[in-house]
Amino acid sequence: MEQPPESAIGAFSDGLAQSQWWSADDIAAVQTRLLERLARHAREHVPFYQTRLDPLFTRRGHFNIGGWDEVEPLTRKDVQENFDALKSRQLPPEAGKPGLVSTSGSTGTPVKVLKCQIQARVAITASVRFMDWHGFDYRAPFAAIRPFAPGKADYPDGFTHESRWGANWRNIPGHGPWVDLTISTPPQWQLEWLRRKGPCYLNTFPVNLLALAEAVGQDPSLTPELHGVVTLGELVTPHHRALARDILRTRIFDQYTTIECGVLAGECPASGQMHLHAESMRLDVLDKEFEPCGEGREGFACVTPLYSYAMPLIKYVMSDLVTLLEPCSCGRGLPHFTIAGGRMRSRFRFADGTVMAPDFKMSKNAGLVGATRWQWAQVAPDGIELRFVSSRSVSEADYEAMRDVVLKTLNRPVTVYFRQLDSMPLAASGKHFDYVCELPEAS
Ligand SMILES: [Zn+2]
Repeated sequence: MEQPPESAIGAFSDGLAQSQWWSADDIAAVQTRLLERLARHAREHVPFYQTRLDPLFTRRGHFNIGGWDEVEPLTRKDVQENFDALKSRQLPPEAGKPGLVSTSGSTGTPVKVLKCQIQARVAITASVRFMDWHGFDYRAPFAAIRPFAPGKADYPDGFTHESRWGANWRNIPGHGPWVDLTISTPPQWQLEWLRRKGPCYLNTFPVNLLALAEAVGQDPSLTPELHGVVTLGELVTPHHRALARDILRTRIFDQYTTIECGVLAGECPASGQMHLHAESMRLDVLDKEFEPCGEGREGFACVTPLYSYAMPLIKYVMSDLVTLLEPCSCGRGLPHFTIAGGRMRSRFRFADGTVMAPDFKMSKNAGLVGATRWQWAQVAPDGIELRFVSSRSVSEADYEAMRDVVLKTLNRPVTVYFRQLDSMPLAASGKHFDYVCELPEAS
């Protein structure tokens, strides 16, 4: 994909450094202007939205943000079934060329989305703002261990990008390299590769961090020198943070990103909770009837990427559970929220229509069966399976205790199955899901 001019990205980035300190109202006003532009574009050039955005316009064609709650949310299924109708017939010049991205399908059928170049530009500037919050040293290498196509970033060399990482437009003296390694590399080899890079930042999924910590736990001489770990793609738990601190001698900086939408939010240096990159994303929190949750009530993240001109995603509902928080003590006017454990986790669906994101409190209860790695899967409308790795033999009484936890948490009759494994397989995407629903997708 052709890169947008560096000077334009630099100017956009400088703007973000300012606007984060604006009042929440002023930031919302910027969002509304961008939303109007996107909505007008979608209505005119995207068949799917021809009438769907009517609540946002008066009879005379004036934009009316007051109708926002009346706009029907867009589901994953809508996107899967309406790819052609969601494609824009025409693009504004600043959008740049569109490119196709696809989710891995690790939580169901993949979703294909067209994204335009300007979305890549806002994503990188949002990431850099987050890195600036945490005082990243751009002279260190940035080492990404993620899924890459076979042959692209294989051990022992990996792949070195031609451009530098992060704030590429700043011409930083001694700016460090940006290097990739494929995530299927055995953990010991990953650590050897990281040690060869010297002190660096690591970018990977939380589940891979567990594997690295396990390997270092067995052989401390493998400890890499990390300035920090930039996590993405899965929920970061206190357990991950403790392993990063105690075993890898570093800390986690968490970002909230999705393939379809881009870089949504980053961890605040003061609160440790998420700040939305509100100049490029709108976030609504909706309950299961798609009513707004307001501050303090958990609901599904519903995202509108404000530059999604090639395939507008307007009120796109995700399975991640979030809660809006009161304004942050750091003084930034950006919306402040917490991801409460629903992220990347499938919801369990029961025959009576109940949908829930269960929490079996595994940081406390994994010990009942000695589980060091685990996954809960819904395998039938009334059947739940625990897959786990444990180095000890598990007695019938241990299973009974775990079964008890499940029944008390769900408060409904279910059959609990147990499967002890030698190692925990990853999804095709290289990610791990603590909770996964394996029932066919609802129609
Ligand atoms: Zn903050």
